[in-house]
Amino acid sequence: MDAIRELAVREAMFNHLDGLLASSSDDTIHRDNTAEFSFLGERIVMRQLYGRGIHKPQTLSAALSITTTFRAPGAKKPYDDSIGEEGLPRYKYEGTDPDLWTNQALRRAMETELPLVYFIGVRPDAFLVRYPVFVIGDDPARHEFVLGFSRADFGIDLAKLSAPEKVYYARLTKQRLHQPRFRQQILIAYDSSCAVCRLRHERLLDAAHIIGDSELGGDPIVQNGLALCKIHHAAFDANFLAVRPDYRVEINKRLMEEVDGPMLKHGLQEMHGVEISVPRSRSSRPDPERLAIKYQEFQRVS
Ligand SMILES: [Zn+2]
Repeated sequence: MDAIRELAVREAMFNHLDGLLASSSDDTIHRDNTAEFSFLGERIVMRQLYGRGIHKPQTLSAALSITTTFRAPGAKKPYDDSIGEEGLPRYKYEGTDPDLWTNQALRRAMETELPLVYFIGVRPDAFLVRYPVFVIGDDPARHEFVLGFSRADFGIDLAKLSAPEKVYYARLTKQRLHQPRFRQQILIAYDSSCAVCRLRHERLLDAAHIIGDSELGGDPIVQNGLALCKIHHAAFDANFLAVRPDYRVEINKRLMEEVDGPMLKHGLQEMHGVEISVPRSRSSRPDPERLAIKYQEFQRVS
């Protein structure tokens, strides 16, 4: 294997993806994009990269990309790919045969410490893209590969990690994979508008957790989220604004009596009693039980 060439082709692919993502309005790559490029005689067609789970071009020795297909928000399990005990994401073998050529191609990327690109389906027609990622472990008993985010993770004994190291990896996985995916799913479910005020500027919108992601029930699933603009997100987190389980907005009593400028008047006080907009799909709507827990907290502090 020509290791330099394998790495150079990957770097060229990452550069190409940088360009595609820079011109994407929602940070995703669309399934039907027709991009392709050639580098060192290697022709890379974007659509082939996410055409199946593990992709390896014939002329390269190791896999170039992995893909997790879209799963509807109503699905019981939020992710195709689990998170391991060590806090890092796992990627399932194709089938159960460890020697299937695709699994071998991914193992080869591990042995040669080559970076990959990870496509994560966030809509039936669009992928979130993460790169570089590395295959840093193989778990034949579970038919899973362990993914890492840094070349420095190669050689780490995953079975011997300390508790703080596991927490560190879990945080990294959340930041790099779960939160961006959660954001995409929320924006899609809420048609890229604030549930409270309908503001439709994606850059001013957040995917807010109802139950915080470090708490019990704080899963990064659409039913535990709301699309909120920056001001309503901050007001929701600070308990100036609540969303009751019947989807009505309530503003903190003291705040209702304050006199200030137009942001307070129009942005907050006038939202009192308003019904939030919820996703069309029933299975994507905010979970009333989670809203009730958050609402109790609001009542305690108001
Ligand atoms: Zn808003």
